[in-house]
Amino acid sequence: MSLKNPFQSFLNDKCKECDYICSEIRFQQNFKNWTSGNDDIDEFIQGTQLSTHDKYEVSKKALEWIPYNRFCNIKYNEKIGVFRANWIDGYIYGWDNENWVRSNENMLVALKNLNNPKNITLEFMNKIKSDYEFYGITQDPQTKNYMVVLCDKCKKCDYICNAIHFQQNFDNWTSGNDDIDEFIQGTQLLEHTYYYRVNALEWIPYNRFCNIKYNEKIGVFRANWIDGYIYERDNENWVRSNENMLVALKNLNNPKNITLESMNKVYLMNF
Ligand SMILES: [Zn+2]
Ligand SMILES: [Zn+2]
Ligand SMILES: [Zn+2]
Repeated sequence: MSLKNPFQSFLNDKCKECDYICSEIRFQQNFKNWTSGNDDIDEFIQGTQLSTHDKYEVSKKALEWIPYNRFCNIKYNEKIGVFRANWIDGYIYGWDNENWVRSNENMLVALKNLNNPKNITLEFMNKIKSDYEFYGITQDPQTKNYMVVLCDKCKKCDYICNAIHFQQNFDNWTSGNDDIDEFIQGTQLLEHTYYYRVNALEWIPYNRFCNIKYNEKIGVFRANWIDGYIYERDNENWVRSNENMLVALKNLNNPKNITLESMNKVYLMNF
């Protein structure tokens, strides 16, 4: 970071490398508006911002100081030893005229304690980035702990694919049967797609069906599926299609029988 001649601020502050007001300059103009309260952290974050020029690279390269009140539903997850929270604003996607444009409002993130702010180095950041999207740093105002703000990313896709979104929801449903849970989760973990769902199955609570009637002729139940199937992902939400579609509910005689092979057979029968 270079200290600038005060008269320079009267000029249009262009980036020497880009010859326009790039992301670096926009970040730099904002340095006076935030501080983490810790010099090492401020310098590190500023350094990542000053090496980001292209607006579409911001979320991949630059870290942000994220005030703690930009998170909600903060809960400690004992199993993985991190806090989970929703990030109200979502990450920087680019900019439009004078404003940063953000994406994925309320996205699910992990907040992980940064034990020693002195440890925050390029090496540390790159190590985190091989497993996670790394968006920035925050501080719990009560404990004063600094925390890194992360989101799991798919190692295969190198971004937050649909498999990750399904995985983030594993704790919120169960069929009550381990074989079925594992089978459904398995199909979801193979969903390496970005927008459109291709193969993933879901656990569907029985109360999401109505007009359930047994059809003696074909020996199955017919019902309307109130929500319809998952069609694609739009930011943090699944978009469904064909609300109230007519479906068949067929007894699964033995949950142990549910394998990829039998799933393909079912597809052939129904579609
Ligand atoms: Zn630039
Ligand atoms: Zn993936
Ligand atoms: Zn997301």
